[in-house]
Amino acid sequence: MRRKLAAGNWKMNGTKASLAEVAALIAAHPSPKSEVLLCPPATLVAAMATAAAGKIAVGGQDCHMKASGAHTGDIAAEMLADCGASHVILGHSERRADHGESSDMVCAKAAAARAAGLVAVICVGETEAQRDAGETLALVGAQLAGSVPDGATAANTVIAYEPVWAIGTGRTPTLEQIAEVHDFLRAELVARFGTEGEGMRLLYGGSVKPSNATEIFATSNVDGALVGGASLKAADFGAILSAL
Ligand code: PGA
Repeated sequence: MRRKLAAGNWKMNGTKASLAEVAALIAAHPSPKSEVLLCPPATLVAAMATAAAGKIAVGGQDCHMKASGAHTGDIAAEMLADCGASHVILGHSERRADHGESSDMVCAKAAAARAAGLVAVICVGETEAQRDAGETLALVGAQLAGSVPDGATAANTVIAYEPVWAIGTGRTPTLEQIAEVHDFLRAELVARFGTEGEGMRLLYGGSVKPSNATEIFATSNVDGALVGGASLKAADFGAILSAL
């Protein structure tokens, strides 16, 4: 059985004052039945790990593919681990679009994350134009094949399906569309990784909110969610946790 996971992606939002949301979340959900992860901006990882006190997991939103060196502005996976992170989001569509990250780069980052003992949350997803052109499965299949390193396991890898056109737009695919992609991703993972692929969690992301979480979580091969905007407030994210 795959344990459900609710992951929050704060993106470029939050200051020290925002850590009050973490305290509120823990107070409202002292023993959540599913795994909970919050990924704040890098500036807050250490302080959030302290605030989370082991009750929720904390992750980064990106890491470099190298372990150290002359890479101004970048952060190594080991540094995230040193701050108390256990996970790192990799290959988010905003990183792929804003920073030109290719699947090869994401794959190298995932290998670096594994070397540092972090769980990689690897994102794939089509643009609206690609969906309209009927390219969704081919596109996410290619991203999955290229972004997940050989030797990935259920323990060190989580996959997030995030249609680019659903992120931050309030629009979501139909449940049938989500199931089609998740069933396809599951089959690809099992074909490549066998039982490990069976055990990897598949998160849906893109405009998940309290009002649609229950039906999305009940969809085939959906093992949780990667939540952006609705993870910023404990009340909203807590309601999503309750739906898991
Ligand atoms: P959203 O973002 O929930 O605000 O749509 C999801 C994501 O980008 O991870």
